[in-house]
Amino acid sequence: MHELSICQSMLEIVDRTMAEHPGARLERVYLDVGRGSTVEPSLLREAFVVATAGGRHEGSELVVNEIPLIGRCRACGREFEYREIALGCPDCESTSIEIVSGMELNIRELEIDE
Ligand SMILES: [Zn+2]
Repeated sequence: MHELSICQSMLEIVDRTMAEHPGARLERVYLDVGRGSTVEPSLLREAFVVATAGGRHEGSELVVNEIPLIGRCRACGREFEYREIALGCPDCESTSIEIVSGMELNIRELEIDE
């Protein structure tokens, strides 16, 4: 499961950060997830429960912040939100589009109880 391996590598980053705060307990992980990142937030939250079960982070919560997929047309400069990745620019129909945001998969913040 794609989401489970993402959670496992995320928890490795969490563990490295938590090592600087001995005895602290993880409360929440805030994660930025771009809509273009192929990650399904509901599956990710389920996978997080599985990945933390029985471990030191059991009971902590994953908060997913979804970021819209925004493209910019290289021909006319228009920025727009992708509903369907196959479509080109809504103004000039150019298919030369660069992605401005929406590919993120980053930990934004950890909430810990020291
Ligand atoms: Zn355009």
